[in-house]
Amino acid sequence: MKRRDFIGAIAGATAATALTALTACGTESGSTQMGADCSPQKPIKWKMVTTWPKNFPGLGTGANNIAKLITEMSGGRIEVKVYGAGELVGAFEVFDAVSSGNAQLGHAGAYYWKGKIPAAAFFSAVPFGLTANEMNAWLYYGGGLELWQEAYKPFGLIPNPGGNSGTQMGGWFNKEINSLDDLKGLKMRIPGLGGEVLRRAGGIPVTMPGGELFPALQSGALDATEWVGPYNDLAFGFYKTAKYYYTPGWHEPGTAMECMINEKAFNELPADLQSIVRNAIKVANADMLAEYTARNQQALHTLLTKHNVQLRHFPDSVLKELKTISEQVVEEEAKQDALSAKVWASQKAFKEQVMQWTEVSEYTFLKARLL
Ligand code: CA
Repeated sequence: MKRRDFIGAIAGATAATALTALTACGTESGSTQMGADCSPQKPIKWKMVTTWPKNFPGLGTGANNIAKLITEMSGGRIEVKVYGAGELVGAFEVFDAVSSGNAQLGHAGAYYWKGKIPAAAFFSAVPFGLTANEMNAWLYYGGGLELWQEAYKPFGLIPNPGGNSGTQMGGWFNKEINSLDDLKGLKMRIPGLGGEVLRRAGGIPVTMPGGELFPALQSGALDATEWVGPYNDLAFGFYKTAKYYYTPGWHEPGTAMECMINEKAFNELPADLQSIVRNAIKVANADMLAEYTARNQQALHTLLTKHNVQLRHFPDSVLKELKTISEQVVEEEAKQDALSAKVWASQKAFKEQVMQWTEVSEYTFLKARLL
């Protein structure tokens, strides 16, 4: 064989091998996912349980958004079916359902699990604590997420920030709150650390899923409730049973939602799908805050002009007293166990430094904008 022919034969053989490899699975486009044995790969089917009513504005749709993004970004390799509260499990059974692997994803608020993990409340909202931007900053760049992972690890769960409501409203009342005395004996739905603050102020805090709040207010089982903000509160129709809408949500200055993943299911995914799941949740986290920021003012306008809701500000004297009680509550809660102490030490140190920057930058600008 001449040298030129020999090289030609090698090249031909290489091309043939490559061609064989390309067509080994009987596809040229690569549009169908193929398993190692060249059979079409079935999509991985995941369930997401949530503490929200199905498709509830902002929260339920935020959960839907995560499911949609995971399916889209994975090219259909993972299909996620979302269940509203009570469809597969009850609102407050979400944690256990994902921990046990009955569902692979759960969308909720970490403060609902305070009874299981005392430190959990620090990952959603702390009275007079971090704003939405500051919360994301602490979680992603201040060590918060690592501590959250440590807290959920014993339960086989991987937590992720899964949306943020921004600063919430102070709640719905049928009487004016002019002093702390007006909170005495008040049966109010208010979860997490804020609830403990209300208790010490003489009120009776109640934890109840969102879907049960309207009938409870109507029947008198509750005197007052907080929920989220105008966008969500309008959807529940609280204006039909309560007259005064108070600001600010001192108890939830920038509440982080969560999207927890069953660790075992996550570890079974290839690296690219793991990245897709994590980043789909991250996209949805930012998206929810943008949606709330866009929709809240529209909804507030509707509440005030169409439904004649009376907007009220808590007096400074009331806020100051609530802040003092909040500081005591948070310090005591932090002493409950070693993890709570560690989490609060981290968040407190972060808050002290980020507050200075927020004041120099955003707060100073916001004041200037109102001049
Ligand atoms: Ca709330």
